[in-house]
Amino acid sequence: MSYNKQLDAAKKAASLAARLCQVSLLRLLSPFSRIGLLKGSQAIVSFILEKEFPSVSFSLVAEEDSGDLRKEESKETLHRITELVNETLSGDEISDISPLSEEDILIAIDKGKSEGGPRGQHWVLDPIDGTKGFLRGDQYAIALALLDEGKVVLGVLACPNLPLGSVAFHDRSNPGNEVGCLFFAQVDAGTYMQSLDGSSPTKVHVSPTDNPEEASFFESFEAAHSMHDLTSMIARKLGVKAPPVRIDSQAKYGALSRGDGAIYLRFPHKGYREKIWDHAAGYIVVAEAGGIAADASGNPLDFSRGRYLDLDTGIIVTNQKLMPSLLKAVQESIKEKISSL
Ligand code: AMP
Ligand code: MG
Repeated sequence: MSYNKQLDAAKKAASLAARLCQVSLLRLLSPFSRIGLLKGSQAIVSFILEKEFPSVSFSLVAEEDSGDLRKEESKETLHRITELVNETLSGDEISDISPLSEEDILIAIDKGKSEGGPRGQHWVLDPIDGTKGFLRGDQYAIALALLDEGKVVLGVLACPNLPLGSVAFHDRSNPGNEVGCLFFAQVDAGTYMQSLDGSSPTKVHVSPTDNPEEASFFESFEAAHSMHDLTSMIARKLGVKAPPVRIDSQAKYGALSRGDGAIYLRFPHKGYREKIWDHAAGYIVVAEAGGIAADASGNPLDFSRGRYLDLDTGIIVTNQKLMPSLLKAVQESIKEKISSL
């Protein structure tokens, strides 16, 4: 089965949401309004997808709801978001859209309340993944995927601040190093990357290395999101020489899919439950580029259980060749960490 039509719509929706986010950064909105932008991004994607695929069974599992935007003190933010959404939509070639009202925006956001699950099709959206990176002016991503009968069948990652060349060699002071990447993947059809402003797509592949000494690894910028002490123990055990590359959001999956690094390690602190929108798009972008993502026991990630990903301990992502030795290093390190407590 082909999902070409859904993929085209997803690319368009994620690119427009990325444009909305970039415009907001340029206008130096207050941090409060920038946070409001998460909802503007969700409104745009939700609106475009439902317009392309109107149906009673339309389903979107997304991070945000309209709750705080409906409060009296958010009036000005809602007004600004509505303006920005309308401006972004009218800048596109979609011709027959009349401006959305504030109520239309709230309704579009609240379409994202679906519970997902193992039956039928569900869109899965993180409207701004890596909010902390977004606010810092670092990496963030608009992450959109489609589930069909519990499996991820397509994914799009719009990464407005990711360099088109390798992040490993990116020099922020070099103005020639352009940023803005769009990764997309469809099941059994590979992963591609193009620039967000519309260059022609090129096929990407994960790093082919089987030598940990040549492999660098990605992890969260935020120490609160992943245990940096555990990941450094894993890397040492495996024989990785390079220091960690710490960036926010699913841009890590995009960078891994084109071989910027060979490993992504994510070990949240105890009690954190992963959400499907934080991994669905990244998962297929890496899988179709020849990589694999698993939990710390080596189990595949299961996106069919609703809004959460229930898994053992953490998420590890790499190529096929490094996975067995990485899994061994992960399990030994976890044992050591537990016995040292
Ligand atoms: P990253 O930028 O890769 O660190 O991950 C960003 C995502 O981490 C956000 O979208 C959040 O949903 C998620 N997140 C928030 N709090 C935590 C936490 N305490 N541990 C792990 N992930 C978290
Ligand atoms: Mg997120």
